[in-house]
Amino acid sequence: MTKFNYPLAKPYLDKKDIDGVIDVLNSGILGMGPKSKLFEEKMCKYTGAKYASTVSSGTAGLHLALKALNIREGEEVITTPFSFIASSNAILFEKAIPVFVDVDPIDFNIDVSKIEKAITKKTRAILVVHIFGRPAKIDEIQKIAKKYNLKVIEDACESLGTYYKNRHVGTLGDFGVIAFYPNKQITTGEGGIVITNNRDRKNLIDSLKNQGRGINMQWLKHSRLGYNYRMDDMSASLGSTQMDKFEWMNFEKARIAGYYNKYLEGTQNITTPPLSCKDGKYSWFVYVIQVPKNIRNNLIVELSERGIHSKPYLPSIHLQPFMKKKFGYKKGDFPICEKISAKTLALPFYIGLKEKDIVEITNTLKSLL
Ligand SMILES: *Cc1c(COP(=O)(O)O)cnc(C)c1O
Repeated sequence: MTKFNYPLAKPYLDKKDIDGVIDVLNSGILGMGPKSKLFEEKMCKYTGAKYASTVSSGTAGLHLALKALNIREGEEVITTPFSFIASSNAILFEKAIPVFVDVDPIDFNIDVSKIEKAITKKTRAILVVHIFGRPAKIDEIQKIAKKYNLKVIEDACESLGTYYKNRHVGTLGDFGVIAFYPNKQITTGEGGIVITNNRDRKNLIDSLKNQGRGINMQWLKHSRLGYNYRMDDMSASLGSTQMDKFEWMNFEKARIAGYYNKYLEGTQNITTPPLSCKDGKYSWFVYVIQVPKNIRNNLIVELSERGIHSKPYLPSIHLQPFMKKKFGYKKGDFPICEKISAKTLALPFYIGLKEKDIVEITNTLKSLL
């Protein structure tokens, strides 16, 4: 593996994070424990959700949300092709069918004006992804969902700290899911959380993630088929201490994104990302520019030879080999998504990058163009 001077991402961990994990190790309670509850409380307070349930990953959370809403084989779930693969995979886990709707060319989120055309008799839900920490138009999506009696799952895995019209994303749908893999806004190692405003649904997630045990049931009694999607207490401790400094972390990321835009704006062949939107608040997850597709691959190689990691971000889901094979998708099916996928390039983005680092990265980039 290449060692990069500037990796694409790295987690920010301080002494409190490390001491917290050591405390858990010393406590001897490594599985489900008190830190999970603490983390859930902090997440509710921060997002404004009434209930939260820690899970072993964002993917697990999405799977349980679909399961809890009883989405079944052959039913259709409307979603976006411009996302990380997990948002569609979760639908496939239940043998339901992801139905893609093309995206908006500015914020890369699902194009709300195209949703109604995709609704059929089999449509049961909309799985909306707030991509790159940018809010999708969730109130308009809710309106459509109400009209057609559909459930709404918000994939906020990249969007802790993202608001739409002063509401934290993930709190307006039936379920919201936030993820904590090391490249996300905060990390628990592996991990995720499901948020909801409905107590029964919270209890159902708690049961499904814990082998189908009913609430207050004995350890070896199971009321339904469940999974082991629990979060361990080392991870939960990390989540809890990371939350304490999240506002600062989010501010730092915004500052780094600002430096990038400052040094890249006006550069020929580079489109910089928007720094804000009018009806919500971004939270920074990745820093992604657009470059002409015919030079992107060379650019990645040349940057890599200079110690700078960069990556196409993200490839279109419908053109992944297994999706093409299963559903017969082809190039041209979702042209805006494909156009974005062909041009987007993620640059190094993590707390600790200084203005002089951004100068070095952007100068290298400009010299290669
Ligand atoms: C990261 C991510 C997920 C999955 O989260 P994991 O914790 O890695 O399972 C799902 N959807 C999106 C959009 C993501 O970025």
